[in-house]
Amino acid sequence: MESKEKNILRLHEVRQEEGNVKTFIFEHDGLEWKPGQYQGYSLPISDVPEERERWFTIASAPRERFIHISTRVSESAFKQALDHLKVGDTIESYELGGDFLWEESDKEAVFIAGGIGITPFRSMIVERDLAGLSIPATLIYFNRTNEIPFHNEFKAIQERHPEFVLKEIVGEQISAERIFELAPDGEGKTFFLSGPEGMVEAVGNDLESRGVHVKRDWFPGYDEHNF
Ligand SMILES: Cc1cc2nc3c(=O)[nH]c(=O)nc-3n(C[C@H](O)[C@H](O)[C@H](O)COP(=O)(O)OP(=O)(O)OC[C@H]3O[C@@H](n4cnc5c(N)ncnc54)[C@H](O)[C@@H]3O)c2cc1C
Repeated sequence: MESKEKNILRLHEVRQEEGNVKTFIFEHDGLEWKPGQYQGYSLPISDVPEERERWFTIASAPRERFIHISTRVSESAFKQALDHLKVGDTIESYELGGDFLWEESDKEAVFIAGGIGITPFRSMIVERDLAGLSIPATLIYFNRTNEIPFHNEFKAIQERHPEFVLKEIVGEQISAERIFELAPDGEGKTFFLSGPEGMVEAVGNDLESRGVHVKRDWFPGYDEHNF
């Protein structure tokens, strides 16, 4: 599913998360999305699309009503302009879509996030929590440091949902071996993999070569040094 429609988003609030991650929270005009979907965003800073436009997963759950962009604020012109928006400023979004969806969310899943690749999982998990549904998933969450975005939020959800397994791993190489150690009963489940492009390619191929069903979400612009 992909929509060509353009939407105007109005900045409502900015939240400082762990480390250099910020969440930019926007009001929208009736946009409908599924947890795990993304869209393009355009800032009025340049005529050059490479500077003006970026894709971001919608990190919020539909039930939260606002659109959240959660991202690491880098030195790029786009991120600097995003970080200098003021409450009430507007930006444009376009091409809502993506099929990184937990469609059979009653069936157990293994979520694997590399750092800021957590955003689609936040949307999926928070949506189920707000809907009062069970969360039959194991989240294996790799981070470079112990500044782990949404740590407190996931811990609180885990307290309400004993079936939701949270494994936070700091400073380790992400590999298929390590994932199987952490989710030993993962056979037959769908593995969702989200993070820096290179990691998703390498680890996704390795998981698939071992007969695992993998869904992938790639974030360009991140690598093993900044994810
Ligand atoms: C489907 C999809 C979903 C995505 N979802 C998310 C998401 O939820 N959150 C998220 O954060 N990203 C997401 N991304 C990636 C996002 O689109 C960006 O590519 C990413 O955030 C990097 O953008 P950037 O502007 O920081 O870096 P880029 O401009 O791509 O640059 C890469 C690196 O170079 C450095 N750099 C760039 N310009 C300068 C400069 N002028 N001076 C110094 N250093 C510079 C940056 O610090 C960065 O480390 C998604 C991508 C896709 C395709």
